[in-house]
Amino acid sequence: MLLSIYSGRGVTANIHDLGSCDSGFESQRSDNMVFIKNKEDFVCDNCGYKNIGNGYTNHCSICLFSKHVDIDPGDRLNTCGGLMKPEFVSYTNKDKYVIQRCLTCLFERKNILNDNDSLDTMIKVQNSDK
Ligand SMILES: [Zn+2]
Ligand SMILES: [Zn+2]
Repeated sequence: MLLSIYSGRGVTANIHDLGSCDSGFESQRSDNMVFIKNKEDFVCDNCGYKNIGNGYTNHCSICLFSKHVDIDPGDRLNTCGGLMKPEFVSYTNKDKYVIQRCLTCLFERKNILNDNDSLDTMIKVQNSDK
């Protein structure tokens, strides 16, 4: 804010209102930034690997375990919280998924695999006698 003061001797001086200048610094911080968090990083309860969430990953890309926390994918409404163990893997061009079974309540679920999921683990699951 500028204040114009007529000195009375033919000189006009512009004086900054220092009050609003100083405090303006603090209030310029944006506290109302909209940030929708649906990309959850998580540490795998089975192998300890720190997974970087990409919005739809809910299983560990190293061991393919996940946690039984959803009723519908992503809703986090299930209170079971058991470990979901990979029981069966399909990895073809058409179909990339893992069937997981909860070790606590034996619930079974189909989970879509991602491109960065461990191929080694998929092969291990495919070859396990189950
Ligand atoms: Zn893991
Ligand atoms: Zn469960």
